[in-house]
Amino acid sequence: MIQFSSLGLSHELLKALKKQNYNEPFPIQQAAIPAIFRGRDILGIAPTGSGKTASFVLPLLQMMQGTEANKNRFIKVLVLVPTRELAVQITEVFQLFAKQLTQKNKIMAVYGGVSINPQMMNLQHTEVLVATPGRLLDLIAANAVHLSAVEALVLDEVDKMLTMDFKEEMTKIFALLPAKRQNILFSATNSEDVQAFVDTILFNPQKIEIQTETLSLDSIIQTAYRTSLERKGVLLRYLIKEGNWQQVLVFTSSIKKADNVAAKLLKNGINAKAFHSDKSQGARIEALNLFKSGKLRVLVATDLASRGIDIQFLPYVVNYELPRSPKDYLHRIGRTGRANAEGQAISLVSPEEEHHFKVIQKKMGKPIDLLESDEINLNGY
Ligand code: AMP
Repeated sequence: MIQFSSLGLSHELLKALKKQNYNEPFPIQQAAIPAIFRGRDILGIAPTGSGKTASFVLPLLQMMQGTEANKNRFIKVLVLVPTRELAVQITEVFQLFAKQLTQKNKIMAVYGGVSINPQMMNLQHTEVLVATPGRLLDLIAANAVHLSAVEALVLDEVDKMLTMDFKEEMTKIFALLPAKRQNILFSATNSEDVQAFVDTILFNPQKIEIQTETLSLDSIIQTAYRTSLERKGVLLRYLIKEGNWQQVLVFTSSIKKADNVAAKLLKNGINAKAFHSDKSQGARIEALNLFKSGKLRVLVATDLASRGIDIQFLPYVVNYELPRSPKDYLHRIGRTGRANAEGQAISLVSPEEEHHFKVIQKKMGKPIDLLESDEINLNGY
């Protein structure tokens, strides 16, 4: 069994890992951490949940220890991501470990959709910047940050960045980076598109491929209830109350539905908030933090928002409505049972959705029993 202590990590970081209950390195960490220390370019094919964040955060932080600060606003490490949620999440991991180190590094997230001025000011003395491409270009144009001294570039969820049409912006950003730098790139899939893009950026990369999506299915208990549309709300309340579920992520197919479901739960004494793209960034971060810390019992989210939700242990995921694609179904239920913890995924299936539910099971290659809910007495919920 490979231990964190054999990967070249400092004493301080080993202590921090212990504090976070990271007992053993995940496969991606076993492979990536020593390779990053050696200065290699990395191509990681790994989904969210594989532990990829720590696989670059730890060695990059350590490599900055004992080095001199750059000139103000000349960052050392740049991490490019497709969404603001991911930017916030990665920054939190950086900060979590950075605060355990003797030499403090300033780490910051920048993304669009919020006012640019506070970001411009806050960029003072930042050394690690986690950014979405558009906002980064705006900040560069405003002279708030410079890329000419970047030593390491991390690109996370590259497949998503390509489908979101960030290619042109990324190309502009690459032109401002020094030619000599370390490149670390992650993608959940290895399509031709990704490969072509990768070839233009990476130099003789070490390729690390991790398949966790199928693996982690084993640690997820999947159940489904046959129910009419009208009874879904009360059935959900019944399940939450009867099962005494304390941390539940509920998925709906629309923003309106997410708002409705959250409002109904709240009305019935279950602390819930909606999480979707119509909410302000501030409201989303607040809801997510409350949920993560256990102060919010239910988070009701749409698929669009689900990408950014990363919680160390999430015991319950409910599909209030089934997602359109089987891939999204896997993505949703993959929010639970992560990091080798056991979780439950529960789907509420109306007669209209039954056929689609069969398609999902077929694609997944795993049958799920459809339990009858007619007999359950829902009075009083
Ligand atoms: P990521 O794929 O980076 O989003 O990480 C997925 C989840 O696994 C996060 O909640 C991490 O906190 C957690 N995690 C990452 N590495 C480890 C580890 N070695 N031991 C336990 N948990 C970990």
